[in-house]
Amino acid sequence: MPDIVPIPAFTDNYIWLARGDEGAVVVDPGDADPVLERLDREGLELRSILVTHHHGDHVGGIPALLRRFPGIPVYGPAGEAIPTLTHRLGHGDRVVPAGLDTEFEVLDVPGHTAGHIAYYGDGVLFCGDTLFACGCGRLFEGTPQQMAASLGRIRALPPQTRVYCAHEYTLVNIGFAKWVEPHNAHLLAREQVDAAARRAGRPTVPSTLELELRTNPFLRYDDPAVIAAASRYAGHDLNGGAEVFAAVRRWKDREYD
Ligand code: ZN
Ligand code: FE
Repeated sequence: MPDIVPIPAFTDNYIWLARGDEGAVVVDPGDADPVLERLDREGLELRSILVTHHHGDHVGGIPALLRRFPGIPVYGPAGEAIPTLTHRLGHGDRVVPAGLDTEFEVLDVPGHTAGHIAYYGDGVLFCGDTLFACGCGRLFEGTPQQMAASLGRIRALPPQTRVYCAHEYTLVNIGFAKWVEPHNAHLLAREQVDAAARRAGRPTVPSTLELELRTNPFLRYDDPAVIAAASRYAGHDLNGGAEVFAAVRRWKDREYD
């Protein structure tokens, strides 16, 4: 498993820095300054860049990083217009980013954006704004059906997978998750752990897929308690995971934040 640390950016983004024997790789560098500062401090050379989707807080730092490290590969989604990409990737592609010796498999995970991809390899998932700790990305360009299918792909990964998402939204997400499942003991325990981490100034991520499966309402669309709560909010019976997911997403968007 590569050695991975967060570089905080903007108010709540994490740019993930993976350190290998031959240099470093960053994931979703929305801002170049904190990345360059960290690389300089550690005497690291940037060897490549991974991108999950086209939003500015994930790609904005790429031009300045390329000015400092000209010609390094920039891997990203084939389905999105990101002019700095050198390698355009889609579902099932495999990539060993320059600087690391880890092979990642590319998953198409549309929903937050239409061409969003995720990278899975060696027990690590870089999922951008698709799955968050105890939450999921807003549906800016996709349908609830697409997002439910994308989250279904993530659910199928091994439970010990470490989930490296791109924002620190966990405590706010837990607040909503408690609306859905006020009696979920795993969720209440998670809140204690993650609140303590934030009080100590530590990130709450990465989490594990196993913890998400126990606590994240957006992955729990087939759990009886989540189905019951979503149906209550919708005011009628729901048919299948995608409908339950859609109701929970609508509930959070309209009533919570
Ligand atoms: Zn985004
Ligand atoms: Fe974002």
